[in-house]
Amino acid sequence: MGKTDSPPYVDTCSICLCPIERGMKLHRCSACSLAFHADCWKENYGCATYGCANVNSLRQGPDISITNEAVRRSNPEPPLRTRSNGGVQHRPPEIDLPWEYVLLGGSAFVAILSVVMFGLPAILLGVLAWYYTSVTPRPKLGVLIAVFAICGAAFLTGLVLSCLLWMS
Ligand SMILES: [Zn+2]
Ligand SMILES: [Zn+2]
Repeated sequence: MGKTDSPPYVDTCSICLCPIERGMKLHRCSACSLAFHADCWKENYGCATYGCANVNSLRQGPDISITNEAVRRSNPEPPLRTRSNGGVQHRPPEIDLPWEYVLLGGSAFVAILSVVMFGLPAILLGVLAWYYTSVTPRPKLGVLIAVFAICGAAFLTGLVLSCLLWMS
């Protein structure tokens, strides 16, 4: 029995961090050349070194690692804003007419007409304003409420005034 300058074990397993003793099955990673117990290697489905090409090399079945393809598929719509075309965004031309104020101005006009027409123009404009409110995603409700108020008042006063006008 001489010196024991060689360690009693061959190498240290990089998975369980235990010595791989002589006679034990050793698996050396072909990519990073670290030593592992053969059983540890098998249980770990390959190498344990972060970033090593043999990580999960034994794993079978569906690939659960997140690939770029999987990330791309989970985000099917690329953000449109990143598409640069000189800073100009091509949007469909939008008619930016403030219809609420057109209706408001119209309601003043039909209020006068309603005086001689039994309030009918006010009803028509009220229906128009109601239709506009229902088809517009974000109508200016304050203005539209004013339109409805004017139409309602114009209808009532128009009805009364027309009766007085035409019956006299
Ligand atoms: Zn081990
Ligand atoms: Zn490795």
